Amino acid sequence: MKAVIITIGDEILLGQILDTNSRFIARELTKFGAETVQIRSVADEKNAICQAIEDAFAIADAVLMTGGLGPTKDDLTKNVLAQYFDTELAFNPQAYAWLEEMFAAYPERLNAYNKSQAMLPKTCIPLRNLRGTASGMWFEKNGKVLVSLPGVPFETEYLFPAEVLPRLKEKFQDLLLQYRMLTVYEMPEAALAMRLADYEKTLPNGISLAYLPAAGYVRLRLTAKGKAVEQLDFFWENLRSALNGILFEQVFNETSEEEIVRRLAQSGVTVACAESCTGGNIAHLVTSVPGASSYFLGGVVAYSNEVKKNVLGVQAADLEKYGAVSEPVALQMAQGVRRITGAQWAVATTGVAGPDGGTPDKPVGTVWIAVAGEKGARAEKFIFSRTRERNIGRSSIKALQLLLHAIQAQQE
Ligand code: ATP
Ligand code: MG
Repeated sequence: MKAVIITIGDEILLGQILDTNSRFIARELTKFGAETVQIRSVADEKNAICQAIEDAFAIADAVLMTGGLGPTKDDLTKNVLAQYFDTELAFNPQAYAWLEEMFAAYPERLNAYNKSQAMLPKTCIPLRNLRGTASGMWFEKNGKVLVSLPGVPFETEYLFPAEVLPRLKEKFQDLLLQYRMLTVYEMPEAALAMRLADYEKTLPNGISLAYLPAAGYVRLRLTAKGKAVEQLDFFWENLRSALNGILFEQVFNETSEEEIVRRLAQSGVTVACAESCTGGNIAHLVTSVPGASSYFLGGVVAYSNEVKKNVLGVQAADLEKYGAVSEPVALQMAQGVRRITGAQWAVATTGVAGPDGGTPDKPVGTVWIAVAGEKGARAEKFIFSRTRERNIGRSSIKALQLLLHAIQAQQE
C-alpha cells in the first residue's frame, strides 16, 4: 500500500512550527506495513491543497492529510474536499451527536463555531475524535482513500491509530508489506543457509527469507506480505533464536532509538546512565517511551569533573592523568552510577561535543562510551562528527545500542 502524507498550514511553511504530524503518520504506516512514498506540506490555500491532492492520487492508494479543520479557520480544507469529491457540505447528525456527547457536562459551551464543525462533505464517513471537536473524515474514490485529520498533533495521534489504521487494514490488507533485516558476520552464505534450513521450513505463506551476501557478511531480510504481516514479529524472534551463537547485528531501521529503548524495556534488567557529553539526552530518550519506570532507575548528568569525582567516584588522579574524555573515566562513570543506583547495567558517555574543546589527539566528536554490568565493564571510543547536535544524538544512540547489545550478549 502506497501512501502520501499532506500537511496543510502556513505555519509550517513559515518555519514557525515543525511538521511532526508527518513523522508520526509515516512511522505508524511503516510499522503497519504501508509505504509512504511522499510527504508534502502546503499553504492554507485552496489551489495548493487541490494540486497536492491530485498529485498524491496519481502515485498513492491512500492520501493522509492533516490541518485546517478547526473552527477558527473558515473551514478551508472541508470546502476544498467537498469540491474535490464533487459534493457539498451538509449537517452530519452523527458528528453533531458526538459533539453533544463531548459537551454533555456543559452544554452551554457548545457554540455556533462548534456546530459548524458538524457540517461535513456529504460523501465522507466521519471519524470520531475523542480529543477534540473536529471529526476526521474518510473519503473513497475509485478504490482509493483520502483521510483528513486535525492539525493538532495530540488529536491526530489519537485519531490515526484508533480510527484510520483499522479501516486502512480492512481495505488494503493484501497490499501490506513489512520487513526486518539483520547482518550476520563471519559465516558464508551456504553455511548460513544450512543452519537456517529447518527454520525456513516453518515459514508460512506470505513470509519469506532472503539472503543478501556481501564481502565479509550476509544480510538477511525477512519479509511478510498481506495478512502474514501480523506474524512477522513471531517469525522474526524465531529467526533470532535460530541464529543463537552466531555473530549477528540487528539492522535498526529509521529512528532506531525507540526500537532500542523498547528492547531494553523487554530485556528484564534494570539500567542507569551517567552522562557527560550527552547532557541527559540518554535519560530523556529512555523516559520518552512509556514504561521506563519498570527498568530505568535513573541517571547522573556529570558534566563537571567535580560531579564525576564527588558523585560518581571517578578517581581524581585518572582525570588528571588521562583527561575527562578517556577510557578510565568512562569506565568509572559507568561503574559509579551502577553502584549508586543499584542498577544491573549502566552506560556512560564522556566526549567532546564541540564546537570548542577539541585538541589534536581528542578532536571534536571524540566520545568514549562505557557499559558496565555485573561481570565487568568495557569502553569503546568513537569519533562522530563536527557538529554538537549530531555528536549528542549519535553518542546517545550508540550508547543505548552498546548497552542493549551487552545485555543481549549476556542473555544469549
Ligand atoms: P484546530 O481545531 O486547532 O483549529 P486545525 O485542524 O484547524 O485544528 P491547524 O489550525 O492547521 O489545524 O493547526 C492547529 C495547530 O496544530 C497549529 O497551531 C499547530 O501548532 C499544530 N499543527 C498543525 N499542523 C501540524 C503539523 N503538521 N505538525 C505539527 N503540528 C501541527
Ligand atoms: Mg485551526
